[in-house]
Amino acid sequence: MMEQVLTIVVPCYNEEEVLPVTIVQLQQLLNELINERLVSKQSKILFVDDGSQDRTWELIYKEGLRNEYVRGLKLSRNVGHQNALLAGLFTAMELSDCVVSIDADLQDDIKVIREFVLKFYDGNEIVYGVRKGRDTDTLFKRSTAQGFYKIMEKMGVDLVYNHADFRLMSKRAVQELERFSEVNLFLRGIVPLIGFRSDVVYYDRLERHAGETKYPLKKMLAFAFDGITSFSVSPIRFVLIIGLVSFFLSLFFGVYFLTLKFFGNTETGWTSLITSIWLIGGLQLIAIGLIGEYVGKIYKESKQRPKYIVDIDSFNLPKPRHHLL
Ligand code: UDP
Ligand code: MG
Repeated sequence: MMEQVLTIVVPCYNEEEVLPVTIVQLQQLLNELINERLVSKQSKILFVDDGSQDRTWELIYKEGLRNEYVRGLKLSRNVGHQNALLAGLFTAMELSDCVVSIDADLQDDIKVIREFVLKFYDGNEIVYGVRKGRDTDTLFKRSTAQGFYKIMEKMGVDLVYNHADFRLMSKRAVQELERFSEVNLFLRGIVPLIGFRSDVVYYDRLERHAGETKYPLKKMLAFAFDGITSFSVSPIRFVLIIGLVSFFLSLFFGVYFLTLKFFGNTETGWTSLITSIWLIGGLQLIAIGLIGEYVGKIYKESKQRPKYIVDIDSFNLPKPRHHLL
């Protein structure tokens, strides 16, 4: 069989500390794959600089000058992991038969890429890398992630458990992905929707090799919340149901308190009054907030802004693609 062209896409944001090692290791792996005749000699590594403020681009550019296997895509500013990844995938798609996405920090076991490719040759269009355990994560991160998966599952979103964005996609799969034009693209939820034949490879996730996480708690929570509200309106429905329940409850208590007032000897308490004010007020605020969240999403989508803009410095690419999706 003809060897297929593979591109490894690596989104990088302020990764100067780890990048030199990443470049060497990925290059080594690619050499092995080429020597084993698993992938074509035209295979490449595409580094996407997501508007880094440190020497990340400098490192990528210098490597590109002396390494024919390296391509560099520079985005005009920081657009976030998901969009940087998309920029890389859509650019790589034109140049390759299959694309592997991997983080720059060497947390994912790069040796697994070989298994990805083998499964691709078996006829899978998408191969998901799934972490065996989460030992390297803190208890907090583990439990919040678990909660997130549970919520998503309850809402009927088809997520692959413990899979981050370490996966192989065929050219055909990426082409279909491009047709999902929403601005708030939550890749882990969208990719399974493509629906092609897929498989899973298990691996051990390691500690970040160097540098710091670009996903502090605040960003992580925002990411999870975006994921949830991008996929379902059931949170709003849930609030509606709570609202209805508390409405009927307050009717019931209203009648109860009135009965007490006329036939009993109690003074209607201040406590119950103030409690119900707070309760209903709170519910209303929650509901308004949630609605606002969705309205905000509609607002964002309606603008149809480009997800990223490619900088002129990019090199080793056929033509920069300016996305106006
Ligand atoms: N990243 C990016 N843009 C950003 C934030 C992160 O391209 O705005 C990249 C980052 O360089 C890394 C990957 O996305 O290659 C995952 O980020 P990180 O490892 O910090 O996340 P974590 O593994 O801690 O969830
Ligand atoms: Mg990481």
